Amino acid sequence: METIRERLEEDLRTAVGRLRTIGGAVAVEESAGAIGDNSPYADEVDEILENERREIGFATRELLVGRVNRLTAALERLKNGDYGTCVECEELISPARLQALPEVTTCVRCQDRIERLGRQFVPSEDELETADDD
Ligand SMILES: [Zn+2]
Repeated sequence: METIRERLEEDLRTAVGRLRTIGGAVAVEESAGAIGDNSPYADEVDEILENERREIGFATRELLVGRVNRLTAALERLKNGDYGTCVECEELISPARLQALPEVTTCVRCQDRIERLGRQFVPSEDELETADDD
């Protein structure tokens, strides 16, 4: 049976590996452009295709970088003993949720609320009341 740490480390390795693959693929595409251009339209078409591919590459890369950061943070929390606790309400995150998404930092309820608020940090009513208490 694999522990949550092994699972996180494995996911991290996979994400980092994919990130490297994307980096390599983009570099290869850039140098490949200099080789086969037999048709007069090749350059133009290549450019369009390459731009599209690059955009997809950037989006994927951003997602992967985010994943790597979350997984690294999760391993850090595991080390500190904070793992599995919701960062918003400090309640325990359900084991089923951690099983599905080992890098999550919030319980389902808080995640729901955050998504509804468009991922913005909104202070609680208590914090609003004491905000100008200076
Ligand atoms: Zn919560």
